[in-house]
Amino acid sequence: MKFEIITIFPDFFRGPLDFGIVRRARESSLIDVRVHDLRDFTHDRHRTVDDRPFGGGEGMVLKPEPIFECAEAIGVLPREQRAAQRESVVLLSAQGRLFTQDVARELAQMERVVLICGRYEGVDERVSQFLADRELSVGDYVLSGGELPAAVLVDAVTRLLPGALGNEKSAQQESFVSSAVRQEGAGPDSTCGSGGLLDYPHYTRPADFRGMKVPEELVSGNHEQIRSWRRRSALEKTLQHRPELLEGAELSKEDRDLVARLKG
Ligand code: SAH
Repeated sequence: MKFEIITIFPDFFRGPLDFGIVRRARESSLIDVRVHDLRDFTHDRHRTVDDRPFGGGEGMVLKPEPIFECAEAIGVLPREQRAAQRESVVLLSAQGRLFTQDVARELAQMERVVLICGRYEGVDERVSQFLADRELSVGDYVLSGGELPAAVLVDAVTRLLPGALGNEKSAQQESFVSSAVRQEGAGPDSTCGSGGLLDYPHYTRPADFRGMKVPEELVSGNHEQIRSWRRRSALEKTLQHRPELLEGAELSKEDRDLVARLKG
């Protein structure tokens, strides 16, 4: 899978994509990341990428011409052909639709994803209207550029690609597959993998660390106790931190009773 990142700070990506799973995915050519310097697509002496906003107001806006030219130079397909060719052009934007695990899963089906990173007050709206297929936000806060969000997206999408996690068992458990396609016996192991709940808490050795003990159920060796402790903890944590997720979660009768009790 190919990622093409359009940015005014190409050096930004020396680092975030050079570690762990993403690094291995690049080394094994599971993904190919190309970073394009927006300034290479300007034609003036100062390599100007921004201009003042029409209508006045604070700050500067990224001009449309270099962005469209860069997209053309890398051979971005006409919009109507992209879906069939599994290509998507994404504008990172605080006004975008929320980038969720579902969107990551959708993008993981693509052959090529082009990421446009904004800066300053943002990007000329015609990029969103006429070039990008989607505008995505990584959360309800404003960052100073689209580079961190682009790196977030590359990471989240890459770890969903078959082979990225390097271990088929962990791919089964950790790649956020829905419970319907999960392998028999493989417990949900990560946030969004447990039927829409947050992940359950993880512990490792020592069982007693400075008097802080691992929950008894987990060291009991009793699989049913472990399963039920993990489910209860995931429900508890979801209720505490993200109660709205419970609405869309796949809950059994036992789960619903437990939630009612926790709420009560
Ligand atoms: N004026 C804009 C913020 C611009 S921030 C507003 O109020 O919405 C500059 C750039 O940072 C944006 O163009 C976008 O590319 C990026 N950015 C900032 N916050 C982001 C977020 N939550 N998700 C994705 N991109 C974001």
